[in-house]
Parts: sequence; structure tokens; C-alpha cells
Amino acid sequence: MNNFTNTIYNPPFSHIYVEREAFSYPTTKELLSTFAKRGSHIIEIAHYMDLFGRTHQSFMAQKTAPCLILAVKHGNFLYPGAPVCQDFGNPFFYYTSFAMNCPFDCEYCFLQGMYSSANIVLFVNQEDYFTEIRNVLAKHPVYLCISYDTDLLALEGLTGIVRHYLAFAAGEDMLTTEVRTKSAVSVESLASGLSPDTRSRTVMAYSLSPDPVISRFEHYTPGLTARLDALLAAQKAGFPIRLCFDPLIAIPDFESVYGAFLSQVREALRGIPVQDASIGGFRISDSYLKQMRKNRPASCLLQYPFKNEDHVCNYGERGRKMIDFVKEALFDFLPENKIFTI
Ligand code: SF4
Repeated sequence: MNNFTNTIYNPPFSHIYVEREAFSYPTTKELLSTFAKRGSHIIEIAHYMDLFGRTHQSFMAQKTAPCLILAVKHGNFLYPGAPVCQDFGNPFFYYTSFAMNCPFDCEYCFLQGMYSSANIVLFVNQEDYFTEIRNVLAKHPVYLCISYDTDLLALEGLTGIVRHYLAFAAGEDMLTTEVRTKSAVSVESLASGLSPDTRSRTVMAYSLSPDPVISRFEHYTPGLTARLDALLAAQKAGFPIRLCFDPLIAIPDFESVYGAFLSQVREALRGIPVQDASIGGFRISDSYLKQMRKNRPASCLLQYPFKNEDHVCNYGERGRKMIDFVKEALFDFLPENKIFTI
């Protein structure tokens, strides 16, 4: 946020909305004590959707100064992985959402097409998630992505959810987890106290982009060097590392910008074991894209004349060439069977 907007908007999390039912949970109590010290306003609400699901909200205005909503989740806690997401060869692929929305603001983010609000919802009944995961684990192994509808590591300093989750995952040896992030948050402290087995089942997946793409389209996110440093620290701490080149963005001079970027990544990771990599071009459902274009009418990224294939908008042949370009560059340091494309 620049100085001008800083003077006209409240700071992020100036208002904390709490479902009546959520007040009794330990996570709520801890967070409220933190926010009370910061002088945030605490407001009781009946149900998070009364606020979050309202129509005619300004996603973009809320992005500049989001509120936090503490809620209790009911119903489903695990969802089967979507076809547009990579399963990395795992037959029992699920994702879960401890939070909705993200402190970052990527111009291509599907969340702005999915939700009418940019406020961040945090579900405080994590134990109910763990019960449901255990129920599914009783039937078969589970590969679980916990950071899809948000960036949990970016929120970790506030919420401590990843630490709480890993303490649970430590006791579940059939559970493999992916924590995807663009943050540069250090995960070394998360590793301490975890067994080598638990760490080996926790894949830290770093989304990487060239700096020109980061500065233009991935607002509020750390630059490439900071992400690579965080990745190297995670690897040193014993976590398997996944590289996510997803979404690739069609920009002028794609090959020279992405070529230089991939050289930088290769140089930084020289001699470092990498579990695998995923590559995907930007793709989005046509209904989400419609909403995203309304939110950002001046976005050259979103106003691109995409190809609509079965209601999924993508770059078509151009996108397939972009994926092939990145894949070939990765052959230098990853075998083909460790490179997944979508
Ligand atoms: S980091 Fe991921 S979840 Fe967060 S805004 Fe960017 S694309 Fe969306």
C-alpha cells in the first residue's frame, strides 16, 4: 500500500468479525488477544456468509485493507482435487481450506472470480478438519493440499495454522501434504520438533515467476530471490521441494524473460535435490474470468483473447508452446518423469 492509500484506507485487519459460535475456540481467543493489543475493532456476527457472501462488494477496495472473519466451518472439510490441478501421480488427491482468500493479490488469482469479498475468512475449528482427515485415512492414504484457496504460509505469523496442522500430520503416516506458497516465510522453525518422516511427507511447493511478472502481476508478493532463499532454507530443514511454474503468463519476449529466469533458478538450485516440478499455463473457468474482468477492467493479463475450451479459458497453442519451452529448460536438472504439466 502506498502512502496515499495508506491515509485513506484503514490498515489491514482493522476490523475483526467473529461468528458468535467461534468465540469459544482457542484459536479465536489467541487471535483476539493479539488483535485487541493492536487496537482492532472486534465485531460479533451471526454467520460469516452474512458478511462475506454479500453482493455488490468491492473486491479490489477490500484487497487494499482486508478485514479478518473468524468462523466455524460445517459440512465438507475435504474436497477431491479439481481436474485443472496437478495430482503429481497421487490417486487419492484432496484439498482443504483452513482459510478463504489471501493476503497477496495476484492479478490472475481465481479467488477474485470465486468470491465476492476479498476479506479473509479463517476457520477456527481445525480439530474438526483433523477428525475428517482421519476418517478418510481409515480408508486409504491421502495426498492433501492445504494451501489452495489462500497462502497459508503467508498467514502463518498471524494464524499458526501450518504449525498446528503439522503437529497433527506427525501422527498420520499415510498422510502426505503439499504446502504451496509464494511467501518467503522461513519454515525452519516449523521443522523443529518434526520427525524426519513427517518432514519427508510435507512437500513445500514454491510458486516461482520471473521478477518482471512478479512486479507487474503478483502484487504484495516477495521477489524471486527471496522466494529462492526461502526454498533453499526449507530444503535444508529437511522438507522435499516442489517447483511450481504455474501459471505461466504470456508476456512479450516470453522466451528471453523466462529463459533468464530459468537460468537464475537453475543456478540457485545447483546441487540441491528437488522432488519434482509442475508447469501450467494460465487457465481459468469462463465464469470466473467474467467476474475477474469486471474487477480489473484495465488488466492486460485478464483481457487477453483467450481460447475457451469446454468453459476453461487458456492460451491455446501459444500456451502449449510456453509449457514446452519451460519443460525443455528443466531437463537440465530434472528428469522427465519428475516434471508434471497441465
Ligand atoms: S498467492 Fe495464490 S492464492 Fe494468493 S493471491 Fe496469489 S494466486 Fe491467489
